[in-house]
Amino acid sequence: MVGYEYYFTNKIKEDTTLRAYNFNAGPAAVPLPVLEQAQKELVNFKNTGMSVMELSHRSKEYEEVHNRAITLLRELMNIPDTYEVLFLQGGGSLQFSMIPMNFLQEGKTAHYILSGAWSEKALKEAKDFGETRVLASSKDANYTHIPTDYSLEDIKDGAYLHITTNNTIYGTQWNEYPTSPIPLIADMSSDILFKEIDVEKFSLIYAGAQKNLGPSGVTVVIIKKDFLETARTNVPTMLSYSTYAENNSLYNTPPTFAIYMLSLVLEWVKEQGGVKSIQKNNEEKAKYIYDAIDNSEGFYKAHATEDSRSLMNITFTLPNEELTKKFLQEAKERQFIGLAGHRSVGGCRASTYNAVPKEACEALANFMTEFKNQN
Ligand SMILES: *Cc1c(COP(=O)(O)O)cnc(C)c1O
Repeated sequence: MVGYEYYFTNKIKEDTTLRAYNFNAGPAAVPLPVLEQAQKELVNFKNTGMSVMELSHRSKEYEEVHNRAITLLRELMNIPDTYEVLFLQGGGSLQFSMIPMNFLQEGKTAHYILSGAWSEKALKEAKDFGETRVLASSKDANYTHIPTDYSLEDIKDGAYLHITTNNTIYGTQWNEYPTSPIPLIADMSSDILFKEIDVEKFSLIYAGAQKNLGPSGVTVVIIKKDFLETARTNVPTMLSYSTYAENNSLYNTPPTFAIYMLSLVLEWVKEQGGVKSIQKNNEEKAKYIYDAIDNSEGFYKAHATEDSRSLMNITFTLPNEELTKKFLQEAKERQFIGLAGHRSVGGCRASTYNAVPKEACEALANFMTEFKNQN
């Protein structure tokens, strides 16, 4: 057989083992064992004769997957029983609206700390629902650091305080979270599960899955039960957190396949030795690349100040536009994918989420040094 079909079949066969060094910012790398497991079970999941995506969301088999994902997340993040774990859709972006819709009560003010483009977007949505205040911002410094010049003294009557723990675009990250006198809400879309954290500091944590948790399509929300009880009631059913809490996130059809993938990613994290091991790994991975930057005699410059450097998104520039282009081109030829910086910052960005292997980061660091020496 010769022709398109022949070519296509053989081409795919040839390429099944090819894995790029994936530094995409999101959707991003998924652990290879997770993809392989999903592949193995794709057509016949646990002897059901069906794919997970073909199962009824009311079936026993699906419910097991669903509950396993919740249990694993609780275990891995040490989430107390005083919190709900919910699965929503609409990405991190819908949370920007749902939070004020549910929790910005009349007469109260929502406080935002701006540390990048995503926190700006979160603030913008809240403005439609009530009073907001920018408690601190590092915008004037082109978001090179996490703001520190604020006082939590005068926000006592606020509805909540919103922070973005990792700034995907600028490559900065909070080291220590504030101890807030009012409910603390965090967008952890790009660094959830990257290290051990104290969930009890927060009233609500949210994260779109496509950076550290798996594929896009599901958004994880971890919410304190007594905070949930303060939510407004005149909210559309599908935009009310209570709907999800009261129905174990099964009020309507959830994104079943994405939740299945999430459960596999969480199994993988557990197998790695849990979040503690992931954290150690992330520190080593980022060190390879930051070392390549710091030892480059100024050839590479990090966008973030040293105290705010992210372990998830490493942003850096080269001496000029021409070299940046050349760098990205040569990187691509060697299967380093996703290194172009966000259009609003320019330069380069390597996203080193949990699933990016250490070897990929080491290989990138070596390439960076080699490129610097040749140019
Ligand atoms: C990617 C990202 C978002 C947006 O996520 P969507 O799922 O595309 O809506 C929000 N916040 C942060 C910090 C992100 O990295």
